[in-house]
Amino acid sequence: MMLDVAAAYTAVLQTVRDTGTEILPFESATGRILREEVQADRPLPPFDRVTMDGIAIVYDSFHRGQQIFVVEDIQAAGAPRLQLSNTANCMEVMTGAILPDLTDTVIPYEHLEASEHEGFRRFAVNTDVKQGQNIHLKGSDVEAGYTLLQPGAIIGPAEMGVLATVGKTHVQVAKLPRVAVIATGNELVPVHATPEEHQVRMSNVYSLVASLQQMGISAEYVHLSDDATEMQVKLRHLLPETDIWISSGAVSAGKYDHLPAVLQQLGMQQVFHKVRQRPGKPFLFGTFNNGPVVFALPGNPVSGFMCFYRYVRPWLQAAMGAERQPPAYAVLQENMNFEPSLEYFLPVKLTSLPDGAVGAVPQPYHGSGDLASLLKADAFMELPADESVFKKGSCYPVWLFR
Ligand code: AMP
Ligand code: MG
Repeated sequence: MMLDVAAAYTAVLQTVRDTGTEILPFESATGRILREEVQADRPLPPFDRVTMDGIAIVYDSFHRGQQIFVVEDIQAAGAPRLQLSNTANCMEVMTGAILPDLTDTVIPYEHLEASEHEGFRRFAVNTDVKQGQNIHLKGSDVEAGYTLLQPGAIIGPAEMGVLATVGKTHVQVAKLPRVAVIATGNELVPVHATPEEHQVRMSNVYSLVASLQQMGISAEYVHLSDDATEMQVKLRHLLPETDIWISSGAVSAGKYDHLPAVLQQLGMQQVFHKVRQRPGKPFLFGTFNNGPVVFALPGNPVSGFMCFYRYVRPWLQAAMGAERQPPAYAVLQENMNFEPSLEYFLPVKLTSLPDGAVGAVPQPYHGSGDLASLLKADAFMELPADESVFKKGSCYPVWLFR
């Protein structure tokens, strides 16, 4: 049954299975997807924090005309809170220190003139002063108990800083799925081999493994020759050990494209075979009960590549409970024609336009075998099947792979 892209995508997402959760030391959680809420354990900032090196005063004294302040002591960062004993005096204060008790305003050194008088260090104020200046007030960012992070957040540098701040030594994150990447084809030789004229190096698995690595997922790979029996034996072996299969090749109409039949013999329920799209029309998708979800992608390098970003990646993100990303759009920078009634995925380079929009410049592209065309592209622009003329300046969805 041939589906259009939207229906295929919906069918793919309907099979999403939660990968479950695990607890990790937070240092090991970079790039992982958070599966719990994280609250502030203290107000942020946790105390009235001095934000400039200088002196802390009682604003009222300044307001009543006082311009010279005698220093009582120094409040350093990391030292317990001092208290001013005479509200006409000042305390020297350092950035990051707790604001001394009774003071309410900080004047930086650059607005002060220091002097000594009868053994006392003192400062003359040479500028106007606003009450409360240069203090980051306790709880002004968030109150204690405030939910800072929601399940689904991808743990990046900002999240790591927040986890550390609130003392979250261990975090609950999505488990990574167990993925097998499967290459098919008698023409494929290992990367280190020198191919005969009629052979090619196995490249798709490395693209797919790298795409998975971008998501923090590692994968093992296997190579199957175009032999139904070998396919069946090796795949049966993989069945209990994996959650997802991503294969490449052997799903078209060729005499040696045995994969659909082999998968069926193994007990896979086919969800669809063929999608109204170019590249990637022969895409086969199915599931095993209590076994892996199978993305059987076509072998042409650009086809498999596109299908990964259009179907596999969203499935993996949903399975790990990632926050849904809003769809991305760009503005086509050239007129395009595409007659067939297929959704057309065009490799494009993204650019910034002067009005702030994102432009999509089509790249020279010789079809689904043209792996090198992807080197100059950042994304696939999805041009709808029911149109055949695509005007420069029109806006369409893009699927980014960089
Ligand atoms: P298939 O879908 O098996 O008919 O393969 C379509 C094209 O993709 C053929 O030219 C294959 O040689 C090529 N191909 C299939 N698998 C790979 C792979 N893992 N690496 C590189 N090229 C491949
Ligand atoms: Mg093949």
